[in-house]
Amino acid sequence: MPALACCVDAAVAPPGHAFAGDSSLPASPFPGLPPATITTAADNSHWSPSLSSDLYRIDAWGGPYFTVNSSGNVAVRPHGTATLPHQEIDLLKIVKKVSDSKPECGLGLQLPLIVRLPDVLKDRLESLQGAFDLAIRSHDYGSHYQGVYPVKCNQDRFVVEDIVKFGSPFRFGLEAGSKPELLLAMSCLCKGNPDALLICNGFKDLEYISLALFARKLALNTVIVLEQEEELDLVVDFSQKLGVRPVIGVRAKLKTKHSGHFGSTSGEKGKFGLTTTQILRVVKKLDKLGMLDCFQLLHFHIGSQIPSTALLADGVSEASQIYCELVRLGAHMKVIDIGGGLGIDYDGSKSSDSEISVSYGLEEYASAVVRTVRNVCERRSVKHPVICSESGRALVSHHSVLIFEAISSSACDDAPPMSAFEHQYFIEGLTEEARADYLNLSAAAIRGEYEACLTYADLLKQRSVEQFKEGSVGIEQLATVDGFCDMFSKAIGASDAVRTYHVNLSVFTSIPDFWGIGQTFPIVPIHRLDQRPAVRGVLSDLTCDSDGKIDKFIGGGSSLPLHELEGNGGNNGGGQKYYLGMFLGGAYQEALGGVHNLFGGPSIVRVSQSDGPHSFAVTGAVSGPSCGDVLRVMQHEPELMFETLKHRAEECGQGDDGGMASAAVATSLARSFHNMPYLVSASSCSLTAMNNHGFYYCSEDDYDDIVADSAGAAAPVGEEEQWSYCCA
Ligand SMILES: *Cc1c(COP(=O)(O)O)cnc(C)c1O
Repeated sequence: MPALACCVDAAVAPPGHAFAGDSSLPASPFPGLPPATITTAADNSHWSPSLSSDLYRIDAWGGPYFTVNSSGNVAVRPHGTATLPHQEIDLLKIVKKVSDSKPECGLGLQLPLIVRLPDVLKDRLESLQGAFDLAIRSHDYGSHYQGVYPVKCNQDRFVVEDIVKFGSPFRFGLEAGSKPELLLAMSCLCKGNPDALLICNGFKDLEYISLALFARKLALNTVIVLEQEEELDLVVDFSQKLGVRPVIGVRAKLKTKHSGHFGSTSGEKGKFGLTTTQILRVVKKLDKLGMLDCFQLLHFHIGSQIPSTALLADGVSEASQIYCELVRLGAHMKVIDIGGGLGIDYDGSKSSDSEISVSYGLEEYASAVVRTVRNVCERRSVKHPVICSESGRALVSHHSVLIFEAISSSACDDAPPMSAFEHQYFIEGLTEEARADYLNLSAAAIRGEYEACLTYADLLKQRSVEQFKEGSVGIEQLATVDGFCDMFSKAIGASDAVRTYHVNLSVFTSIPDFWGIGQTFPIVPIHRLDQRPAVRGVLSDLTCDSDGKIDKFIGGGSSLPLHELEGNGGNNGGGQKYYLGMFLGGAYQEALGGVHNLFGGPSIVRVSQSDGPHSFAVTGAVSGPSCGDVLRVMQHEPELMFETLKHRAEECGQGDDGGMASAAVATSLARSFHNMPYLVSASSCSLTAMNNHGFYYCSEDDYDDIVADSAGAAAPVGEEEQWSYCCA
């Protein structure tokens, strides 16, 4: 019998945990007749949450923030290693709180859902700062670390505001790469530490530069980093006009090259930065203008996901030499800005050969940077600069979890087992050649020649298809043959064990890097981890696009261990829902996602640890964009569309029972414009239409009141439903 174990991806299943399916099929005696039923029921007796944790490598990629609790659910450890047991937050409880209807004390929000965890963000920020502080102490470094957050990683208002607030005690600043990013960074930093850096990167025009100069006038510690040589003249001219003394940096194009996917902007042919010749010209020009004191910062960025500290040290060393040369040439250098690139170990493999992993942690990273800068400066007798980094991915990836639902799986259309009568009828209905195939198939089965069985099953299928095309066989007969062959291959363990799980999600909107660059993220069921996952599946999204599927997972598997949907999934109302979480997606995914098929973004909630009975409090919630919202993105006017349709409904309704029917149509249309584009399960038909005021945010002052009762509805998420569709 073909070992089903061959369907088990060795790369995913941890050693010793060959998982479900490997031994669960009965050795069918196969007396020529199909077995009445095929047992695939999972055996849970030898399964445990910790086996799931190993299987999905949760400790490897998720530690110290994600773990599996004793109920078999994924839990968040909001303060990382400092989390006390009672502070763990069960993700399933968050989902329930958020998706339950308001009468049930829920928030009535629709999935997919992004759960933002400000505590995790704070812990990441403090860990990064802590790692540099430690490295500075242990290498006896003569200055300090002062990081900035590159807002392009996630420009969400609350993410940026949180970082400024949490980072204020250690002068944490922001980095902007475009005019709107600069505007948001300027306004957020008004509440930040006055010494926090505001680094202005990216290609600049006069308007960008004037904004940056205004920022200096507003007493924000702003540095204009020259990305192209031409920007210098604009800075000089405009700063003289405005009467502002600018602080200038340059981005150096290093020779050090990072060869991974994310390194294509590095090296001599990189997209950004000034060559050594150009840097020298900048020095000369500033010297001539008596502005060399304005030149204070050297920046470089060798790309995201720097794979190893060896490569990092190479780049930092080259840049440190440039820094020292600039000091020698008379620039008033103060800061070395090592850019981003601090990597995330998405698959938990701690490997420098994989684009989704890195071989170092925060401490090793910080230590390599501090040691290298120090060594170069010591040799050149240059005063140690302030070290700035622009780590984005490393700060925000962990703080957000995307949760979505699997609504059905391809196995749901399994043909029901045949009765003896049906079986007889089936055989009689076959043509002569097909019956010969069938008899050969049965004989081979009795002899236990399973390879031959498969061949005959294939022949039988092919012949039926040919006859169907000729019109000599009906659709019922064709379906019966298909069902028979599927059942048969399943019984001998040769069926395609990988099922397709349909998920209520758009890959293009929520995991664009999977579609765009094939990046994998950890995806795990957030509950039922005390049960053996008996099935392997790929995930297929809602879009009408063949690329809208996930068939590559961390560890290299082309399918994911999953559980059987209960009662045909949640979509038909009957069964338990099945929720999956995509982790480590807090960086880049939100801003890169598009509205393919007009699916908009997920609902978003902010969840903080609280010492109340539920260990968490929802401190902010916003519904994802409605159908009306996404239509507006493409210049449609939902209000006019609604009026047109309503008018048409009135015209069409005139013949029959008049106003009543058309009013009902209008109500229903209005509801559709208000609701999110994602599927709604029948069991949550009470789903509230989200109007565009469905957003609330509580200031930290109100926060305590809300925390006080995290079980009750935290705050009104939506106002009363309004059925006439008029938008503010
Ligand atoms: C994108 C970018 C960053 C952030 O890089 P991460 O790898 O996310 O840390 C930092 N600096 C610059 C100039 C960037 O373009």
